[in-house]
Amino acid sequence: MTSSPSSSPSAPLAIVTGASSGVGLWTTKALIDQGWTVVMACRDEAKAQRALQEVGLGHPPEAIVLSLDLSDLESVKAFVERFRGLNRPLTALVINAAVYKPLLKEPEWSAQGYELSMATNHLGHFLLARLLLDDLKASPAGDKRLITLGTVTANSKELGGKIPIPAPADLGDLSGFAQGFKAPIAMASGKKFKPGKAYKDSKLCNMITSLELHRRFHGSTGISFSSLYPGCVADTPLFRNSLPAFQKIFPWFQKNITGGYVSQALAGERVAQVVADPAFRSSGAHWSWGNRQKKDGKQFDQELSDKASDPATALRVWDLSSALVGLAP
Ligand code: NAP
Repeated sequence: MTSSPSSSPSAPLAIVTGASSGVGLWTTKALIDQGWTVVMACRDEAKAQRALQEVGLGHPPEAIVLSLDLSDLESVKAFVERFRGLNRPLTALVINAAVYKPLLKEPEWSAQGYELSMATNHLGHFLLARLLLDDLKASPAGDKRLITLGTVTANSKELGGKIPIPAPADLGDLSGFAQGFKAPIAMASGKKFKPGKAYKDSKLCNMITSLELHRRFHGSTGISFSSLYPGCVADTPLFRNSLPAFQKIFPWFQKNITGGYVSQALAGERVAQVVADPAFRSSGAHWSWGNRQKKDGKQFDQELSDKASDPATALRVWDLSSALVGLAP
């Protein structure tokens, strides 16, 4: 753990996963600028410290770096114990970290033997959210939120979610999860491995989980559960495993052709708004600023696809994910 002992114990505190780069890093900056303390949940603590320097924060007492590898369920449990050791109430959890590996020929596997992008993006976060729900419930803060980064490419109500390359997000009959989701099974649907689709499926699971948390716990706890699409942040390291030509052309295309480009700083400010601004307190929302960015554009609650919002699918994702991470439903 890297931390400073002098961050104010009365400041609101958020855990941000994957805060060592991109959206998570700039969310951390925006929250700290607003007086929050942020636990940066990162797999590489030294990188997180360097990232703080890069955004001009230096070594602020309001940033506490704690080690978390979401691709290992044991690391998730150890993180929760270390967080509890800080003895600080939790005001918000931001489910942000992700891997995207569209060029893989063969699946990679997590510590527990699950396909790596689903394990990191969904299963690790599912366990984290389930465990930290107790901490959110116990926190005395009046306004507590669990915020999830969704994406347009996993929402078939939007154009970006209909793109058939390699295929739209689709969990099928979830037989891959039901059969234990271990090699050779690498897709939730049990079908052939498609790396780009594995990412989209994992993000669909993120959005399904956010809505299911809302259904199950908002009424009894008052915690707000929302997801968001911050815009196309086309130049983050998320695309580091894409073709080099794609990494060059994609930001240009989003800036000049679609108008969907959003800077990392603006994306971080948007996430911080969803975490902290009273205007974003409602639960069960999927916040968006649209796909074509407009100057001073306002947020709205974007409709999600049936695949993301169907309660029966969500129940099955909940039960099967619980089994895969070793929790009772
Ligand atoms: P990014 O810069 O690559 O950030 C991803 C973060 O996740 C990094 O800090 C990375 O850590 C961390 N991470 C990866 N594997 C991990 C693991 N096993 N354990 C813990 N942390 C891990 O990408 P980004 O674009 O900011 O993406 C952040 C979120 O925004 C994702 O959920 C993504 O789906 C969502 N999003 C992005 C866009 C976009 O256009 N970029 C659009 C919509 C939604 P390392 O630094 O160690 O690699």
